[in-house]
Amino acid sequence: MRISVIGLGYLGAVHAASMAKLGHDVVGVDVDAAKVDALAAGTPPFYEPGLGELLTEVSATGRLQVTTDLSAVRGAQVHFVCVGTPQRADGYAADLTYVDAAIQNLTAHLSAGEIVVGKSTVPVGTAERLAEVVRRAVPGAHLAWNPEFLREGFAVQDTLSPDRIVYGVPGGEAAVTVTAALDAVYEAPLSTGIPRIVSDLPTAELVKVAANSFLATKISFINAMAELCEVAGADVTQLADAIGHDARIGRRFLNAGLGFGGGCLPKDIRAFMARADELGAGEAVAFLGEVDAINIRRRVRMVELAREVLDGSITGKRVTVLGASFKPDSDDVRDSPALDVAARLSELGAVVTVHDPQAIDNARAKQPRLHYERDLEAALAGADAVLLLTEWRQYRDLDPERVGTLVAQRTILDGRNALSRTAWTDAGWQYRALGRR
Ligand code: NAD
Repeated sequence: MRISVIGLGYLGAVHAASMAKLGHDVVGVDVDAAKVDALAAGTPPFYEPGLGELLTEVSATGRLQVTTDLSAVRGAQVHFVCVGTPQRADGYAADLTYVDAAIQNLTAHLSAGEIVVGKSTVPVGTAERLAEVVRRAVPGAHLAWNPEFLREGFAVQDTLSPDRIVYGVPGGEAAVTVTAALDAVYEAPLSTGIPRIVSDLPTAELVKVAANSFLATKISFINAMAELCEVAGADVTQLADAIGHDARIGRRFLNAGLGFGGGCLPKDIRAFMARADELGAGEAVAFLGEVDAINIRRRVRMVELAREVLDGSITGKRVTVLGASFKPDSDDVRDSPALDVAARLSELGAVVTVHDPQAIDNARAKQPRLHYERDLEAALAGADAVLLLTEWRQYRDLDPERVGTLVAQRTILDGRNALSRTAWTDAGWQYRALGRR
C-alpha cells in the first residue's frame, strides 16, 4: 500500500520505517528539516535501539521517502498522523495545536476514499471532532484512530510486533472500508495472531489514556509503599517481590524508585484529568492527581536522601548523577526524573556532574547550566556521592571496587533499586535506596 506518515518523532519515525519494512511504500513528512535530513541519510534523529539498522534496511529498498513537503502525501491510501500532543503551557490539558494543524493542512492533499489515521494520544472526543473536519473538507474521506502503545527503548519491536492493535473506526458503512484498509496495513503482524480490537472512536482514544493511567498508577502504588517502608523500616523490593507473586498483581512495573517521566505518562494522566473535568467526570479520575503527586514526591525524597548522606549540607559537594534520560535505552529527556533531580541538586549548591550514554546533548539543551561528562570514569572521579537515577545496563554492571578507587567518598544512592546492595556494601560503600532501610 502507499502510506504517508505525518510527524517523524519518536513515534512517527519508527512507524514510517516499520511500515516500509512491512512492504508498504511510505512517505514520511515532518516540519523539522534537520530531522528529515537525518532520516533521508538513513540516520536516526534520536537514539532508539534497532532503528539505525531498520533505516539502513528499508533505505536500500527505496520504500521509505522523507520530506518536508506535505504535498508528497498525495495518492497515499492511508495517512498516519503522528505529531506531538504535549501538555499545554497554561494548564494540564493537551495542546492539540499540532494535531489540528496537521489534519487541517492534510485535507488540502486528500482525496475521496483515502483514510486519515490518528496515532497521536489525544483527549477523548478529539477524533469525532476531527472526523467532521475531514468529512467536510473532503467528502468520501474518512478518519480513524489507531492509538500507539510502543515503549521507547523497544519501539521497533513494539511497532513490528505489538501486543495488540486497536482501531477506532467511524460508524455506518465507513466502518467496513476503514477496517479493511487498516487490516491491509497490518496484514503481516495480524497474520501472526496479534489481537485486534475494533471499537468506536471514543473507546479507542480512551484505551490509550486508560492504559497509561493504569501503568502510572501501578508505579505510584509501589512508590507509595516505598514511602511507607521508609518510615516503617521495611524493604519495598522484598514487598514488591512478595505481592508480585500473586498473579492478579504481577511483578512487572512494580519497581520502586524515582518514578515515571518521559513524553507520555506525566502529560497523559494530566490531560486525562483535564478532559474528564470538561466532561463533568473529574471525580472518576481525581486519583490520578495523587498518582502524579506521589511521583513528584519521589524526586523531592531523592534530594533529601542526598542531603542526608552528605552530612546535612549539599552546598559545594561533588555529586555525580548517572543517567539523564527518563528511562534506559532512550535519549529522551522530556520530564526526566533524573535530570530534574540533577537540576534540583545544582540549585541547592551541589557541584553536579551528569553522565548518560546517549542523552547528554538533549539534556544539555534542556539544562544548559549543569556540567556534563561523556566519559564515565571521569564523571565519577572525586565524587562525594554517586546517584544512580536512570538504570542503564552499564551502570547496573558497574564494579563497586573499581568505582571505589575513583570517588572521594564511597556513597551511592540507588534511585532505581537496580544495584546489588550486598555487592556495594561488601565493597565498603554506604548504600542507600528509595524504600529500603
Ligand atoms: P515528538 O515530539 O518526538 O514528535 C512529533 C513530531 O511531529 C516532531 O518531529 C515534530 O516536528 C512533528 N510535527 C509537528 N507538527 C507537524 C506538522 N504539522 N506536520 C508534520 N510534522 C509535524 O513526539 P512523539 O514522542 O513522537 O509523540 C507523538 C505522539 O505520539 C504524541 O501524541 C504522543 O503522546 C504519542 N505517543 C508517543 C509514544 C512515545 O513513546 N514517544 C508512544 C505512544 C504514543
